Amino acid sequence: MNSPPTPHPPSRTAGRWFGALGLTVVAAGLAVVIVVGVRATLLYEGRVAVRDDAREANLRVARLVARVVGDDIATCALGLNMLGAAGRGDPGVQLSNCRARFGQPASAQARTDAQAVVVAETGQVVYEALPSTSCLDLPFVQRIVDARRQGGSDTLSISTSPALCPQSAGRGLLITHSIRRDDGAFAGVGIVTIDARYFSRLFAGLAPGTRGVVSLLRGDGTALVKSTAAGISVASDVPASASMGASTSAVASGESAATSGADGEFLYVRQPVPGLPMLIEIRAPRSEIYVRWRERALWVGGLTAALGAACLILVVLLRKQRQRRHAAELELQRLASTDPLTGLANRRTLDEAYDREWRRSIRERVPLSLLFIDVDHFKTFNDRYGHPAGDDALVAVSHAIGESIRRPGDFAGRYGGEEFMVVLPNTESRGARDVAERVRTAVSSAAIVHEGTPHGHITVSIGVASTGGLPAGKPEVLLQAADEALYAAKSGGRNRVCIHVSAGGEPCPLI
Ligand code: GH3
Ligand code: MG
Ligand code: MG
Repeated sequence: MNSPPTPHPPSRTAGRWFGALGLTVVAAGLAVVIVVGVRATLLYEGRVAVRDDAREANLRVARLVARVVGDDIATCALGLNMLGAAGRGDPGVQLSNCRARFGQPASAQARTDAQAVVVAETGQVVYEALPSTSCLDLPFVQRIVDARRQGGSDTLSISTSPALCPQSAGRGLLITHSIRRDDGAFAGVGIVTIDARYFSRLFAGLAPGTRGVVSLLRGDGTALVKSTAAGISVASDVPASASMGASTSAVASGESAATSGADGEFLYVRQPVPGLPMLIEIRAPRSEIYVRWRERALWVGGLTAALGAACLILVVLLRKQRQRRHAAELELQRLASTDPLTGLANRRTLDEAYDREWRRSIRERVPLSLLFIDVDHFKTFNDRYGHPAGDDALVAVSHAIGESIRRPGDFAGRYGGEEFMVVLPNTESRGARDVAERVRTAVSSAAIVHEGTPHGHITVSIGVASTGGLPAGKPEVLLQAADEALYAAKSGGRNRVCIHVSAGGEPCPLI
């Protein structure tokens, strides 16, 4: 049996509603994903920019420091190199230039942070630039001479060591170079030590953040001197490099390419010291580089997430509200189309359904049948059992009618009072009579006690009409025929089915 039709078929309407709402949610979700994606990309790019800026700034500092260190130390290296290459250079000239680079004009004694000696192969000091001759650590010098004699190398060697005069200066950089005669025989060593104070002054305040580090590295990556916020430190036990390859031409050459990278929690840049086998390295802790970016990212990310969530919540709430409104509208439609007492279609819906089926039967040239059902002696039922009991009886009759029609297209409704109508599309009079007989039997079987009738229970009379033998004129014609058949059933004694003569009906049988 059909449920009462609504102005728009519910399934189609619901589909449209849910489709639109689903699309809204998907679109909102997509918009949120895009906004979050764009935000995340911008934040990531901001992070990359922060890293690049930090690297660029550190590289600039490293380049500057490398140039200064290069200029200062290269003077000494060049002096040693010349002594080493010719063995005849004037140590006084070569190394005083070197020492002048490390002078401290503010000092009362005009001392320098560089100490230098030139030692013959015999161990005899042939030139010295020291606070005093007596302070020279001769055994230390001798060890250097021995090592260079045995090493056979005459290139520049860089490592760390105590000062030549350990009482007057701390640990620092040690630069040595062998001196050879014209025939290539070992003739001695030129030695320069540079105090850590020089680096302390030079690197002061350059370490980035609170945990950054500025270092002087040897070309092979060995750390020689480190400067942090805590101060300067000189690496101990750095072995002398066997061959650092600092030639005169190397000393004179320009800057090499800088490198950068990440190492644990640090980002670093390394700038070669021009012309020397050394590097300036600046290490910056990531945690400090990204501090401000992280704060901003937290704000922006948090706000974006909150906005996205609020947007989604709003859409979901809107969707729920629309669903509720849609459900309420459907319920209203159902109430407007349903008879409140029996739950069958009401008169308006019945008229619409009949009109629709009538036009369809004409259009498709298929038969249409109608049943007019009237409860027998119902006035006396009300009089005897009361109106509420009459209502209950009508509900029971409506159930019996509903259960008797089985095809999906069949349609039952309350025509008015104790009268019902059933529309049977595409049904001949014979089939309609069978349905009517099922309805009549079902009502009798319900055994609703009615002592005011010959049968002792409620019965119905049914008039059947079918379009088969009628002119395909107006829908009222079929209604009129069904009504006439019902009249015949009443006249014939009630509790019976009568078929209109136009549909091949015969006088109603006696039951
Ligand atoms: P007949 O066998 O010739 O049909 O006799 P009848 O008494 O059924 O016919 P009649 O038209 O005289 O009376 C119909 C009665 O149906 C009158 C009215 O009180 C009752 N009725 C109509 N609608 C309702 C309703 O909604 N509830 C109840 N309880 N009674 C109703
Ligand atoms: Mg009646
Ligand atoms: Mg009646």
